[in-house]
Amino acid sequence: MARLKQFKSESKRLLDLMINSIYTNQEIFLRELISNASDAIDKLFVQSLDNDSISFNKDDLKIEIKVNKELRMITIKDNGIGMSKESLEENLGTIAYSGSKAFKEALESDVSDVDIIGQFGVGFYSSFMVAKEVRVLSKASESDDAYVFISNGVDGYQINKVEKSDRGSEVVLFLKDSTEDNDYDQFLESYLIKSLVKKYSDYVRYPIVMVNEEGEEETLNSQIPLWKRSKQDITDEEYNQFYKEKFNDFEDPLKVIHMSVEGMISFNALLYIPKKVPFNFYSSEHEKGLQLYSRSILIEDKNKDLIPDHFRFVRGVVDSADLSLNISREVLQNNHQLKKIASRIEKKIKSELENMLANEREVYEEFFDNFGMDLKFGIYNGFGVNKDLLQDLIMFKSSHEDKYTTLAEYVERKKEDQKEIYYVSADSILKARQLPQSELVIDKGYELLFLTHEVDEFALKMLGSYNDLTFKSINQGSLDLDSSEEKEKLETLATENKSLLEKIQDNLKDKVDSVRLSSRLKSHPVCIVSGEGISFEMEKVVNQSPDENQHVKAERILEINPDHPILSALQNTEDEQTLSDYSQLLYDQALLIEGLPIENPSEFSLKIANLMVKASQVKQD
Ligand code: ADP
Repeated sequence: MARLKQFKSESKRLLDLMINSIYTNQEIFLRELISNASDAIDKLFVQSLDNDSISFNKDDLKIEIKVNKELRMITIKDNGIGMSKESLEENLGTIAYSGSKAFKEALESDVSDVDIIGQFGVGFYSSFMVAKEVRVLSKASESDDAYVFISNGVDGYQINKVEKSDRGSEVVLFLKDSTEDNDYDQFLESYLIKSLVKKYSDYVRYPIVMVNEEGEEETLNSQIPLWKRSKQDITDEEYNQFYKEKFNDFEDPLKVIHMSVEGMISFNALLYIPKKVPFNFYSSEHEKGLQLYSRSILIEDKNKDLIPDHFRFVRGVVDSADLSLNISREVLQNNHQLKKIASRIEKKIKSELENMLANEREVYEEFFDNFGMDLKFGIYNGFGVNKDLLQDLIMFKSSHEDKYTTLAEYVERKKEDQKEIYYVSADSILKARQLPQSELVIDKGYELLFLTHEVDEFALKMLGSYNDLTFKSINQGSLDLDSSEEKEKLETLATENKSLLEKIQDNLKDKVDSVRLSSRLKSHPVCIVSGEGISFEMEKVVNQSPDENQHVKAERILEINPDHPILSALQNTEDEQTLSDYSQLLYDQALLIEGLPIENPSEFSLKIANLMVKASQVKQD
């Protein structure tokens, strides 16, 4: 019996650190052992390239997993390169020595078909998170002898000679006893093992086979990562199937984006835009992110840094061999390689969306109905840092055929002398069209954007202008649509009616900031507009906040149509009380049309009823 050897280096402390602090997640021991097994097979492959005495059948290469509940034992077996006595000592007896890294470094650079994962020389020790003893039986590819490495991860290890007929390694874990805080027994359940293989090691390139007690085999992994295959060889069906399985969607995706980038940083990405809005997408529970793989091994399920908020609807996977991972194979935050990948991905999504907009209008509109809001939020967020990126991707419904239009299309159609882009906010297109203010603008041949979403106006305010045309609400401030003649006429009329307008304002003094004759109305008698600053829409949205200190109030201006007979009706009203009632009625009407609540609906109703009664009396007389 061989003597117990102490681990080399500062091993005990290091090992303790390893087992208790490096890994946050016990289950990853399986990922590490499978990665080692896969590396071992890779190495066998490389070794055979210039060594004829090593022969094997490619189809026999595999990784086997067995679970023995009675003995509380998990076995991970490979038929890879194996380890000699010296290698066991060097690789497993020395913590933080990576035989795989040394192997890779010694490789001729033209050996391209290897994808060795190991680099830190610590993965193996993660098995001590769950095992009280680990045995590694191994027979090197060119040796007749086999050895076993035995360790409890604390007191060192021993290496003995054993009988083992086949080439490769067999790692046997004897699980720790479960405690109240730690359930190790769960790892004896084959369904858990299967799901862990699927989760972390699905794209390991050799079959991972579960062998049950009857000796029946079941292959657990899909092996070839779709994203690493060449685009020409992948069918739509394969792309769609992968998406549905991976992201639990019943429907095919709306768009598939497959990237293979070579260069300063190389990576593959397979990205999808869903057809429908995922069920919790607009709730706070939804987390954005892409799955991150390194050499086909899952590193992180949802990496947030890979996708910007405005494209958070994109789902998918990213795989890069160039990521510098930390020792527990997690990516470091603020990793600059990750940032580079993210920026490439953002550009690619943008250009794909632009293509879709240009060439598949219907598909884009479907996409925009579902996720367009995020693009508009994207413009508004971060004080507009992304406006240039996003401004040509957003659309609004407009008075031009009530369909979606981009800002570029609007500008294309605008009148020659037009200096502003006109918009109006309302709950729906119908309401936007029915607003008295819309009538004249549309009638004069201007196109109107209909802003029906809460975020719309905020996004436009953040944009400020597009192609040097400023955005202008037809419901705010003054509208400059009149000829100089028309303007003069209005001014004269305003002077003539000065005292009437003042009286009306006096009647509404707590309610409106001013009363004036309108240049924006055609057939309607009145409207209410806001001043240049805060609009009614903004007032509505901002005041939803429970914090009353933040509430805002838009300036209210009542406008009366000088071309409507209502003006002479008002001029002819001599009785003060009647004029006061009329003022109130006009104001309430204007509020109703604008979709704003009126203060006293029952009084409004009484006043209308009184008017009706009066009208019928006049008729009878
Ligand atoms: P890493 O995989 O990061 O190199 P590990 O601690 O997991 O670190 O493994 C240390 C070394 O032990 C590996 O680099 C490899 O040389 C060797 N090794 C581990 N498992 C096996 C195996 N199943 N077959 C052959 N060699 C192995």
